[in-house]
Amino acid sequence: MREVIAAHGLSASKALGQNFLFDEQLLARIAAIPGELQDRAVLEIGPGPGGLTRALLRAGARVTAIEMDRRCLPALAELGEAFPGKLRVVEGDALKIDHRELMREPFAVVANLPYNVGTALFVGWLSGETWPPQWTSLTLMFQQEVAQRIVAAPDSSAYGRLAVLAQWRAAPKLAMKVHRSAFTPPPKVMSAIVHVTPEDMPTAVRARVLERVTEAAFGQRRKMLRQSLKGLPGAVAALEALGIDSQRRAETLAVGEFVALARTLSQT
Ligand code: SAM
Repeated sequence: MREVIAAHGLSASKALGQNFLFDEQLLARIAAIPGELQDRAVLEIGPGPGGLTRALLRAGARVTAIEMDRRCLPALAELGEAFPGKLRVVEGDALKIDHRELMREPFAVVANLPYNVGTALFVGWLSGETWPPQWTSLTLMFQQEVAQRIVAAPDSSAYGRLAVLAQWRAAPKLAMKVHRSAFTPPPKVMSAIVHVTPEDMPTAVRARVLERVTEAAFGQRRKMLRQSLKGLPGAVAALEALGIDSQRRAETLAVGEFVALARTLSQT
């Protein structure tokens, strides 16, 4: 990969959040996280010069890769030639492209993305009323601190909206920690890969209502629920009906309690 970078004169762009991975063993281990990929459709976001892309292709995947840095396209085209018919490269901003339209079949997502783009895509993939989603799993690199927020349990400072969003109808796991020195150039913080698979959606709950509840509850996380949920019509009464003490704070509520609250409010 270092040769590919040199041959194409690719210097890492800070503005595009480029921190590349070159270690082939590490890349093969990452490509193994989604499980068997032989002939499976994979959506990779931000392939860059193609290190992870190559590992995915070697694992037998059919890869669609969205990259917004045109400088990477020649290197990716070369990779495509080495795996005929297996790599489709789409130039553009992954935040603006309709992934369902692009893929038109179930797909696994694999990405090593800049922090802000990764979080925005993650929230998008886990939101909405349509479930199960078209993706079969998400394998995403995050700053370790964000990865911990995604898998956090109640009663911890990392537990918040992201944890509830990720856990109420999906199962996120911390799949691998990745040391900052594995990247070129190394970022300031440690990274970790989160693997998420969809689960059954609880019945009679609207996703939008659950989002409103967690937004209000964690918007004022130090306050008691009876205070933080005051602005949501019916919420304080729903707490009482469910036997949830309104003096508790948001971070003490289990994901299932948020779901129960949202279910009650979804009916009103
Ligand atoms: N996957 C490569 C690797 O692991 O070495 C590159 C990772 S680098 C952290 C992130 C890549 O995402 C860069 O190539 C960058 O150009 C690309 N990127 C950043 N924002 C993007 C966006 N909104 N849509 C598509 N690609 C993006």
